[in-house]
Amino acid sequence: MKLIDTARFCKDSASLFGTYTETDLPRLASEVLPSSSFNVAWTADGESPDLLDLTLKATVQMKCQRCLGGMAEPIDASYRFQFVKDEATAQAQDEAQDEVDTLVHSRQFDLHELIEDEMLMALPFVSLHEICPEAGAVAFLPVDAKPNPFAVLQNLKSMA
Ligand SMILES: [Zn+2]
Repeated sequence: MKLIDTARFCKDSASLFGTYTETDLPRLASEVLPSSSFNVAWTADGESPDLLDLTLKATVQMKCQRCLGGMAEPIDASYRFQFVKDEATAQAQDEAQDEVDTLVHSRQFDLHELIEDEMLMALPFVSLHEICPEAGAVAFLPVDAKPNPFAVLQNLKSMA
């Protein structure tokens, strides 16, 4: 958690920045290529009276939906949020305009959670290589390849 008092953060035009890794963002880690690592560099800038600018930069490893291989997806996103006093106002505002996302002011607003939410939203819906690396290039051994000595040993063991 990274809690901020949003009214004060905006009023003071405060700034925060940092980097989150796969251990900080487990929900994001479960959406990218398993066991891959990433760094999300983020900045949050308050602006009086009620605005928050958030930027996110990262490269995450996604699974290509065509060849199932890993591929790097760069994420470079920026968002502007407007804080309002309550949920009802937020809903009315969201319906009226779509350029600015609305959030509700809080003395204990979790910036960490917002960053993870927005990273999840920024992921591509489907990842595909522009050109998939040739399938099977690594998987097939040349016909004259010597058998793996350990595999032979394994066979001997299973025959015994
Ligand atoms: Zn592919």
